[in-house]
Order: sequence, then C-alpha cells, then structure tokens
Amino acid sequence: MINHQVVLCLLCAMLFTACTLAQGEASSEVSETKRMIDSDSIKSSLSSFQQEVMCGGATEAPFTGAYLYNKKEGVYHCAACNHPLFDSDTKYDSGSGWPSFYDQIAEGSVITKADNSYGMKRTEILCGQCGGHLGHIFNDGPRNKTGQRYCVNSVSLSFEPTKSTLDIPEFE
Ligand SMILES: [Zn+2]
Repeated sequence: MINHQVVLCLLCAMLFTACTLAQGEASSEVSETKRMIDSDSIKSSLSSFQQEVMCGGATEAPFTGAYLYNKKEGVYHCAACNHPLFDSDTKYDSGSGWPSFYDQIAEGSVITKADNSYGMKRTEILCGQCGGHLGHIFNDGPRNKTGQRYCVNSVSLSFEPTKSTLDIPEFE
C-alpha cells in the first residue's frame, strides 16, 4: 500500500514538472532566440569587433567589409551560429558600401525589429536562429525583384562557396 502511494506521488511530481517545463518553453520562445547570441559559447567564438556588431548593434565602416565585392556563388551564413541567411543569387551592388541582398534565403531566416536609435526610424535585421545583429533593411532595393535591400555587415556573415564553383573533380 505504501509503495502505491509513493508511486502515485512520484507520478504527480513528474506530471507537474512536465507541465511547468512545457509552459516555460512556450512563453520564452522569442526571448530565447534573442538571448542565444549573448551566450558565452557563441560569444567566445566571435572576435571583439564581431561582438560589437552582432551583440551590440555596431556597424562596420562602409566599403571595408570582406564580402562587399564577393561575386562567388554560394550561401552566406550567420557568423555566430552558422544559420543560412542569404543566397549569392540575391546579392547585388547597391553602391551603399555594405553587402546587399534583395531577399533572405528562406522565410524566417532573418527576423526584423524596429530600431529608432540615432534619431532614425530604421528596421534592424537579426539572425532568425541566434538573434545576432546583421544590419538593416530598407525599401530601396531592386524594383524588378522584391524592392527590399538587406544591408548587412560583412563581419556578421560567413561565406560557403557552392561546391560546383570549387575545383572541378576529374572523372575517368
Ligand atoms: Zn545566428
């Protein structure tokens, strides 16, 4: 009889814990995304300048970024968490001094947030997975495409070339 009571109590405790965990996960989904970039494991993989940009929202000087003139085919990933963000097919020369894309690689790859700093009304773009700061989005992109300009700091990106653009393997 005592055994049954113990088992019952244990079951109740487990159920209660499960419910509490489920509620916690659901309500903290958005803030969890934003916090990932601030975790020590991600931060420690970034340079101090990358931390300033990706965690603090700083901007690299125009015409200085490594990927501004990169015309290779491939995919641009988040420099912090490696989440795929942009396809080289959507990269274009905006003349702004920062790598520019007219679309994200997939819906939700990039998330947006209102940014009213420096007396300007801008829309910040963040990595959809870790919440790292990428740059800003403007509506002066190519009109024959999406009309959007994703203006991105090179230091927030890592580039992975398409395999077909690497050395062509020899076939016998
Ligand atoms: Zn990320």
